[in-house]
Amino acid sequence: MTYAIVPAGGLGARMGSRRPKQYLRLGRAPILVATLRALARARGLDGIVVAVPEAHLEATRRLLAASRVQKIVDVVAGGADRQESVWRALQRVPESARWVVVHDAVRPFITGALVEHVRAAAANGAATCGMPVRETVKRVKDGAVEATVERGGLWLTQTPQAFTRALLWEAHEKARRDGFSGTDDAVLVERLGTMVAMVPGLPQNLKITTPEDLRTARAWARPRRRA
Ligand code: C5P
Repeated sequence: MTYAIVPAGGLGARMGSRRPKQYLRLGRAPILVATLRALARARGLDGIVVAVPEAHLEATRRLLAASRVQKIVDVVAGGADRQESVWRALQRVPESARWVVVHDAVRPFITGALVEHVRAAAANGAATCGMPVRETVKRVKDGAVEATVERGGLWLTQTPQAFTRALLWEAHEKARRDGFSGTDDAVLVERLGTMVAMVPGLPQNLKITTPEDLRTARAWARPRRRA
């Protein structure tokens, strides 16, 4: 069985809105609902556990029930950071699940095919998707270029990421023991010395973080007018 974890426990400080960004609208539905609907379309996905800010727990449960989002098995209170939110959701993934796919709530443009592709790429235990860096990368300090970073081999990492449940559990446990905090789940598995496969993601797999990202996402989501 394959379960998905959707960390949606952030407060969206960089968006500057009062409501966390995952509840802002994209077309008719909140971003979170759009993401969960896209995820639920992945074949072979048996259930989804969502982690949300504690203050939004009951309202989210009502929202997801009213929106008739498929495959939701649990909505749990998230933690202080993304990693803690994933860990809390992982407690609710049944032991019968061999595979866990983690996908950010604020990436609504994924496709079922990408989820299936990343899951298949995790045959050895772990996989992520991403895009090779195409632009020139510079390290900047106080408005001045410090260095130009060789971009060969650099990828920008996206979600979904897929793992065996056992490996993801072990990786999170070790990170907790070591007091290590990562911005994705793959890095926790890398710390175990385990290979993480990388496959191409999608250029449109935008992570909605800032007000500009939201404007872009809304423009993409707008129904195309017939010619
Ligand atoms: O803010 P960040 O880039 O870490 O957000 C990535 C994803 O992690 C978002 O979907 C956000 O809601 C989620 N997150 C979470 N719990 C937190 C912080 C972020 O689930 N405490």
